[in-house]
Amino acid sequence: MSHGHMDTTSPVAIDAIRQLRINLYEHLDEVEGHATKTTRWTEEDVETARRLIPDLVTVIRGIISLHEQGPSASCRTCGATWPCQAFEMVHRLVKDPDGEIVRLLTRARESTAGR
Ligand SMILES: [Zn+2]
Repeated sequence: MSHGHMDTTSPVAIDAIRQLRINLYEHLDEVEGHATKTTRWTEEDVETARRLIPDLVTVIRGIISLHEQGPSASCRTCGATWPCQAFEMVHRLVKDPDGEIVRLLTRARESTAGR
């Protein structure tokens, strides 16, 4: 696997890649905006959120699977020493003690333990 720089990339391709990035960020901003703009959620909003969570978990799983340790001691996608930056970032965000993922798990575990 080669990890060299793409020195041959044309300005057109560079611009297309830049647009792709901007488009993805705008896409995420738009979704976030929809989720936070309304003060009251309808029953439909709740159902959408319920279906959205597994989709988001799938996205996170996809990123993690790309950045697992390869046959050597390095990341199978980045080639960087494992854990690579991408894996560490996802790990940090998913395990953020102030984040809702950790809060949800803590609540769920506490309620199970109380039974
Ligand atoms: Zn990686």
